[in-house]
Amino acid sequence: MSTQTLSKIILEGREFLIKRDDLFDPYLSGNKFRKLHTLINTPKQNLKKIISYGGTQSNAMLALAKLCHDKEWEFVYYTKAISATLKKQKVGNLFLALGLGMHHIEIDDALYRDFIATLRLNLDAKTFIVDQGGADRSAKEGLAVLAEEIRSLDEEIEAIATPSGTGTTALYLALALPEKIVYTVPCVGDTAYLQEQMSALHPIPENLIILEPKKKYHFAKLYPEFLEIYAKLLESGVEFDLLYAPSLWLSLLEEKKEKVLYVHSGGVSGNESMLERYRAKAARSRKN
Ligand SMILES: *Cc1c(COP(=O)(O)O)cnc(C)c1O
Repeated sequence: MSTQTLSKIILEGREFLIKRDDLFDPYLSGNKFRKLHTLINTPKQNLKKIISYGGTQSNAMLALAKLCHDKEWEFVYYTKAISATLKKQKVGNLFLALGLGMHHIEIDDALYRDFIATLRLNLDAKTFIVDQGGADRSAKEGLAVLAEEIRSLDEEIEAIATPSGTGTTALYLALALPEKIVYTVPCVGDTAYLQEQMSALHPIPENLIILEPKKKYHFAKLYPEFLEIYAKLLESGVEFDLLYAPSLWLSLLEEKKEKVLYVHSGGVSGNESMLERYRAKAARSRKN
C-alpha cells in the first residue's frame, strides 16, 4: 500500500491533516514501521533471530512479532514476571504477539536489569537485538524516509506533531526536517526524562518543541479526558491509540493555532484492551 495516505479531519472547528502511517499493517504500523525500516529491508537469509525486551503490552513488541513472523525469524522477548490475569487475556498486544509465534520469557524482577545488560554478550552474527521500544540509532533511516514523504506533500503545513515515548521518533523526524517545527509531548515520564532519553541519541535540535501537558499524566493510566478526545477523533473519522495520542491532541487544541500535520503513530491494536479497562472502571463507579 502507498505510504502517502493523508486524511483531513475537523476537530473543534479546526482542520488538521493526518499522515496515515497507521494503515500499513494492523500490527506493524505507525512509528514502529518507521523505526524498524532497516530490519524490514533486511533480506530474510541475513538473520535468524531477533531478541528484544520491555513492556508486556508494548506496540514495539507486537510490531517485531509481526516482522519476525513474516521473515520467518525466531523472536525471543523478555519481560518482567507477569500476572495470571494478563496470561489468560484473549485481547491485547501480548495475546496477538504470542499468536504470531513470539517466544515470551519472564525474568524475575530482581534479576531483570542485570539480565538485560548481559543480552549483548556472545551474540552470533545472525542474531540482532532491538532495545526497548526500538530506541535505536538505526531508527534514523526510516524517519528520514518519512521526512522525505512529508516534504513531497502538496499541502501547506505549518507544523508537524507526533507523540513521544522514548522520543526516538520525534527526535529523528525533527533532525531530518530542520525547516519545520515538530511538536511532541512526553507520554512516559516528564519533560526532563524525555529530554534525557533524546539527548542520549543526539543533541535536541531547535525545531523540536516539547509541549508540557496541563496535567501530570501517568503512562497507561485511565483519564476521562483521554477517552473523550479519543471518541471525538473517532467521530471525525480517524481512530487513534489511547496511550499516546490523547495527550498530544489535548495540548495541540489548547496551546497551538497552526495548521498541523499529525503523523499517526499507530498503536490502535492496543485499544481493545484499553477500552475494556475503561468499561470496567465505568461499571465500578456505577456500583459505588
Ligand atoms: C511507540 C509509540 C510511540 C512512542 O514512540 P517513541 O519513538 O518511543 O517516542 C508513540 N505512539 C505510539 C502509538 C506508539 O506505539
